[in-house]
Amino acid sequence: MMEGKKGVVMLDFTLSEEQLAIQRLVREFADKEIRPVASQFERDEEGQLAEEIFRKAARIGMLGLPVPRDYGGSEAFNVECSLALEELAVGCGGIATAIGASWFGQTPIMMAATQEQRQRWFPTFASTEETNLCCMAMTEPQGGSDIENPYMESRTIRTRVRIEGERLIVNGHKLWPSNSDNSYLYTVVATTDPNLGDIGSCIVVVPRNAPGLSFGKPYRKMGMDADRNGDIFFDNVEVPLDHLLGKVRDGARILQRALIYDRTGAGAISVGMARGAYEIALNYAKERVVTARPMIQNPITSAMFGDMATAIDAARLLVLRSAWFNAQRGQANIGWATMAKVYASDVAMKVTTDCVQLMGSYGYSKEVGVEKYIRDAKIIQIYIGANKLTRQVNGETL
Ligand SMILES: Cc1cc2nc3c(=O)[nH]c(=O)nc-3n(C[C@H](O)[C@H](O)[C@H](O)COP(=O)(O)OP(=O)(O)OC[C@H]3O[C@@H](n4cnc5c(N)ncnc54)[C@H](O)[C@@H]3O)c2cc1C
Repeated sequence: MMEGKKGVVMLDFTLSEEQLAIQRLVREFADKEIRPVASQFERDEEGQLAEEIFRKAARIGMLGLPVPRDYGGSEAFNVECSLALEELAVGCGGIATAIGASWFGQTPIMMAATQEQRQRWFPTFASTEETNLCCMAMTEPQGGSDIENPYMESRTIRTRVRIEGERLIVNGHKLWPSNSDNSYLYTVVATTDPNLGDIGSCIVVVPRNAPGLSFGKPYRKMGMDADRNGDIFFDNVEVPLDHLLGKVRDGARILQRALIYDRTGAGAISVGMARGAYEIALNYAKERVVTARPMIQNPITSAMFGDMATAIDAARLLVLRSAWFNAQRGQANIGWATMAKVYASDVAMKVTTDCVQLMGSYGYSKEVGVEKYIRDAKIIQIYIGANKLTRQVNGETL
């Protein structure tokens, strides 16, 4: 929002030249590098195809998009990151999730790192030579939603940190994080003692080569195949004391703030997947002749497209509102981020399902690629705060 003439408050929906340039760059990247291979991630069990995409993304500076310029990044704020995630997700939800989750892992470091910690980690995220993904390790075997649920006050976290002199010793088991076995750094949500609640909560940064860190084989899933999700085991993992972000007791606060950015990103990914399915189905409906005329001329069909376009736009506006406020100092708002994530993920499920329906058996075919959007979209109603839980928490704060 901005001050207009005579003090009238105006809304400005125009994207800046820089925002348009990022959107264009990522759209071209998705069209050229991701879309042509999107259907192959399902069979890419070793993840080589995805690795190649991440390498190319690093080369054009995408992995370090939010990293401050002083450290070699593009210093993109939340609106630019949301625009980028939408474009990536039109190409493939799994690639968008992996890159978005990498930014999510970087977020607590951006929020709480000391100058020395920033100097140590930021340039590696921004590297265009190496592929340095980051992993945000929250979920554990006994609970995913509960760890993100502020009402649980960090009491369900079982990954323990012991402070021994100048060392931190980490023990525990995380599962499901994006980029689980292919990250360079792990941002780990932990506790010194779950009985202390939020007072014991902490976030520890663990490098991939830390002794005692090991990984299980990535899980096979319904969708999001380009993202690698599996077990991460911490067996007396030792890191220096200055791998703690902030202090013990800061963990819950940092996590809850980071979730604002991540939920906004999940909303943007949902918008991208809905748009991807919609664009394919719309082209199809213009060509496909049913009852002697193009399908789109059927009033029921055209109304469905009208509704889908409205829902996608409404979801995008919620995402961009949240992103815009996230980029203003002190204005980030969990309620708006949650509205954006919940609404956009529900829209993505509805739109992708309707698109398959509209395209008949072609929609159901793996060759066309619309059914993939449904399979990828489903998890966004579950991850980064299951929609039922986040609806409840949002409702209670109204
Ligand atoms: C592709 C993918 C990417 C992921 N990325 C990450 C990542 O980067 N980092 C990470 O740590 N984890 C990640 N996850 C894990 C994901 O965030 C968790 O699975 C999610 O938080 C849900 O936790 P859960 O599976 O333990 O389900 P549970 O917490 O057991 O929830 C199951 C269901 O119970 C319901 N429910 C839970 N709590 C409530 C409540 N209070 N009120 C009403 N209903 C409720 C919801 O409907 C929910 O869907 C990822 C998972 C996938 C599949």
